[in-house]
Amino acid sequence: MKKILVSNWKMNGSMASNEQLMRDLQLGLDAFNSSKTFVNPCTVVVCPPTIYASQILRLVGTNGVMLGSQDVSMHASGAYTGEVSAAMLRDLGIRFAIVGHSERRQHHGETDEQVGLKAQAALACGITPIICVGETLAEREAHQTEAVVRRQLAAAIHAVGHCSSEILVAYEPVWAIGTGKTATPEQAQAVHAILRGQLQAATALADRVPILYGGSMNAANAKQLLAQKDVDGGLVGGASLKATDFLAMMEAASLAAA
Ligand code: PEP
Repeated sequence: MKKILVSNWKMNGSMASNEQLMRDLQLGLDAFNSSKTFVNPCTVVVCPPTIYASQILRLVGTNGVMLGSQDVSMHASGAYTGEVSAAMLRDLGIRFAIVGHSERRQHHGETDEQVGLKAQAALACGITPIICVGETLAEREAHQTEAVVRRQLAAAIHAVGHCSSEILVAYEPVWAIGTGKTATPEQAQAVHAILRGQLQAATALADRVPILYGGSMNAANAKQLLAQKDVDGGLVGGASLKATDFLAMMEAASLAAA
């Protein structure tokens, strides 16, 4: 399977810095393409703050980079001040939406049920939800990792029903996000295998559901993580804000799939 890299810019960027980052990425992609380093180029999805989506859409041009949102409303329309609906994202040309990121679960109190409803709302408008699951450090230390990720994924599968094969899943251990602590490739693979098994019980097409790893993935550790059997790509925060790092990860993803 072609690897997928999703960049989550979180609440970072400005018109000027976005333009610079996208231009640097484009220069790197052009160089890769002309040197044919990308034997099997990875799929790239950029998730900027939604306010900048139109700017980024203009900048991606025809290079194949797709756009995602960092969140989506579970409601279709109406009196939900500050929210952005899936139909609005689609209207703009956005193809993916991260749902259930741990920062939203933690700071905005999003529940498993709400995450499921967001995934459902996205799918209803033709947007692919990237459903994040992951345990906290306390849960890992209490040997609850499997129970937690299973519970989170089960809620999403329940909500999306027969569309279970149309989603992306991101395993993001909360203790690894933005901390510089990365799950070892073995730890990541172990959880990805659990998630794959759970998807297999839900849909005959489970093998085509990409399961991404996220949590301090960077240019130095991407190759090993992406070499794992059930690691189909990465959800990258901090390291996606530096063009050189993200390009190095694209190269690692390309080689891992070759
Ligand atoms: C994320 O925001 O989903 C993430 C994985 O962040 P970081 O790569 O910075 O840990």
